[in-house]
Amino acid sequence: MLRRALFKELVLPAAAALTPLTSWRDMQALCEAEFDPLERQRARRWTLIRALLVHAYREVDIYRVAMDRAGVDPIEVSQARRFANLPITSKNVLRDGFPDRQLARNFRGRALRYSNTSGSTGRPLLLIQDMRDIAQKYASILRSRVLAGVDPLATQVRFTPNECQPSLPSGDSPQAINPIHRDHGVPGRRAAFYVFMEKQVVNPLIHARHMLDPLWPGNHPGGDVALDPVLSALDKLAPEVFSVYPLYGLLLAKHLRATGRAPPKVRALIDFSGGLAPPRVASLIGETFGVPTAQACGGCEFARYGASCPEDPARMHLAETYAYVEAVRSDGGLCTPGELGNLVVTSLHSWAMPIIRLEPGDVGRIIEDPCACGRRSRRLQHGGRIQALVRNANGEWITDAEFWDALLPLDGLRLFRLEQQSETDYTLSIWRGPEALDRAGLDEALGRLLGASARVRISEVPGLSTEASGKFQLVKSNTYEDFRPSSARTQRVPVN
Ligand SMILES: [Zn+2]
Repeated sequence: MLRRALFKELVLPAAAALTPLTSWRDMQALCEAEFDPLERQRARRWTLIRALLVHAYREVDIYRVAMDRAGVDPIEVSQARRFANLPITSKNVLRDGFPDRQLARNFRGRALRYSNTSGSTGRPLLLIQDMRDIAQKYASILRSRVLAGVDPLATQVRFTPNECQPSLPSGDSPQAINPIHRDHGVPGRRAAFYVFMEKQVVNPLIHARHMLDPLWPGNHPGGDVALDPVLSALDKLAPEVFSVYPLYGLLLAKHLRATGRAPPKVRALIDFSGGLAPPRVASLIGETFGVPTAQACGGCEFARYGASCPEDPARMHLAETYAYVEAVRSDGGLCTPGELGNLVVTSLHSWAMPIIRLEPGDVGRIIEDPCACGRRSRRLQHGGRIQALVRNANGEWITDAEFWDALLPLDGLRLFRLEQQSETDYTLSIWRGPEALDRAGLDEALGRLLGASARVRISEVPGLSTEASGKFQLVKSNTYEDFRPSSARTQRVPVN
């Protein structure tokens, strides 16, 4: 408690006033802005976008080339339709020729933080962040706590398969580093300082943040694993916020239900991070643990651009002056409010390495109706990963979130993998739980989601393999490419 009062009343406000770490003030500004009329939030956002585009055009090779090719004048971009003429940036564009093509010329030689988006397939993607970007990212995380109705400095336990980590320019992310080594000739000396500060100072001492080891590493065949030690560790730490990968949360909740064990002490909130918990999955976990749940979305490039409020846990408020989120049709045009589209995200404060119109590989609907909480920011109803978006036997698009919500709460089913061969042919692998399988519920859900004429071959498996990131891909579509913006299809969709 003393730690918290000290940081809230003294350290963070003083840092915001006296140093470039302005997160506390930035968080307050983000939170206040959300109650403004949407038009005012939009106007502020376009001011930020224009400045970002002018900077990116002048200083960053990949964007100058992209804007010239698209015939976009960065000064004239002041409305959504015109901005949507800018090409979509794939993760490969952020990788190829790194860092010279991505790093702004006027930021070279400054103290910059490198971050490793570990676990994605292929070469790791490195990000470079300047101080303002770092401050805003931290502010976006604090904001997500405020939206969920908990103290922004609440104690936290994290239990996720992978993490964005500060790294050296080589991409390595050592657990411990000597910040005052004398070899001044070593490149990345300043990047090493960020690694030291975050891993050895900020996370353990300031955030009082505990990490639990992932259940399985990446590319692991999966299978049974002991969950009681995780629950005991959690009980001992008794955090206010339990940040958990939704499928880990689900496995813990199902284990608690099957064994009758009392839920561990989580004092304020279960915070879904690193993936999506659709409504029925979220309530199953929340009810089992006996605490409210909140959902956030973002990733290494964006920290948290969306976060839910208690009025509507299924939709996330977008931080309009932090990131710009578009839902895009396959012809590249913008979706109308409520229409399912590809998400394209721009980070408004990343200037060292701008992230403009990135395709993270997600789908969703953007809702403009006001929320009962009084915030006027737009909200995102997230549909999950695009590789899981299935065109079914009736020609309808079914999202990852819809599959998870229909299948994961079923009795007797721990996790599943649905693989699509064609619109009408599927294989479903079921990792069984201890209870009897709700076969009628399963058949009903499959018929509803896949169409009555779909054929599903069902088999049981002793576990499910993890992706390189350590996460699970429960649905593997082979029709999703048709949903992507045609201009982006020459690039492979990112997997994580
Ligand atoms: Zn709300």
